Amino acid sequence: MTRNEKILNVLGDTPSYRQKQIDAALFDAHTSNWENVTALPKALRSRLLQEVPWMTLVPEFTLESKHKNTFKSILRTTDGKRIESVLMQNARGHWTLCVSSQVGCAMNCSFCATGKMGFIRSLTADEIIDQYRFFLYFLENKKNLPSKKITNIVYMGMGEPLANYENVKTSLNAILAHTYIGHTRITVSTVGVLPQMKKLLSDPEWPDVRIAISLHSADPQVRKNIVPSTAENFFDQLAEWMRSAITKNPTRRNHITFEYILLENVNEQKEDAKKLIRFAQTANVPIKINLIPYNKTQGNPFSQSALERQLAFQKMLEYAGITATIRRPMGDDIAAACGQLIAQNSQ
Ligand code: SAH
Repeated sequence: MTRNEKILNVLGDTPSYRQKQIDAALFDAHTSNWENVTALPKALRSRLLQEVPWMTLVPEFTLESKHKNTFKSILRTTDGKRIESVLMQNARGHWTLCVSSQVGCAMNCSFCATGKMGFIRSLTADEIIDQYRFFLYFLENKKNLPSKKITNIVYMGMGEPLANYENVKTSLNAILAHTYIGHTRITVSTVGVLPQMKKLLSDPEWPDVRIAISLHSADPQVRKNIVPSTAENFFDQLAEWMRSAITKNPTRRNHITFEYILLENVNEQKEDAKKLIRFAQTANVPIKINLIPYNKTQGNPFSQSALERQLAFQKMLEYAGITATIRRPMGDDIAAACGQLIAQNSQ
């Protein structure tokens, strides 16, 4: 049963404004248990206390990066699984939260630590929402921080969000309904699960959040080698999807965002940049590329692309009129950077 269903069970015929009070309390940084929800009558509070867990996740520990601008928390689910969530300071001095959508991942991308864990299970919507709520309390209780505000959320932690479509959607709608975070400040990152990508374009309940696609190569064979989930005919289908996505919302979705990891001698040479440019030209849709320097993870042969190669790659894209930024790694000293999340789990 979801938290909401449990709450509704307790409420029974109680007036519906109680539900609103409960939702407000669940997303309030100053309220961290049922006893504190003083807007509710005492009897109701004690029934909620008995029947509805306040949190679905228990924190095990939190690591802090040496620059104090990244925190990684290991959170345990009620069935004993461990997930990781990361809080990073953003350019505006507030916080961006990186949430996990699954325990482990089935996609098995060759450079990603989470892929090495295999797939354990998808998270429930409450477990995704509670990563946000955990950090809300965390920030509230932490002293000497420049800001306590989470302004952005990225679904870029452990797992493939679109392989957990319904729960991710429910969590997005709850966060949009109960926080000040707007839909343009939320990004769902996908390895490129085309059926789900197509579905969300015509799903009236899928909120208009940003989508980022992990591309990593515009060469079908290279991509298949490093991203084994690459579908047959991936690039043609992707180009078609890009055109539909832009047509659906020509004003706000004025470009499609891609992530592109830079792996030495794999996908970061001149030829690779040319293929990427050609793909963008064939698709005929404006794109934006986030270049991600590879973060070292165990058990694979890859190395980070040299800085001058990263810059040369970026330059070639920009010269072709494609906006390309290089993402600075955050929290790599606490293994909290992209692709380093691998909480210990016994299956
Ligand atoms: N499954 C989703 C979201 C999780 S990963 C996806 O594939 O998009 C978030 C981003 O980190 C993805 O672009 C992913 O390819 C990238 N990533 C994975 N391992 C990495 C590593 N070792 N170094 C840098 N980026 C990595």
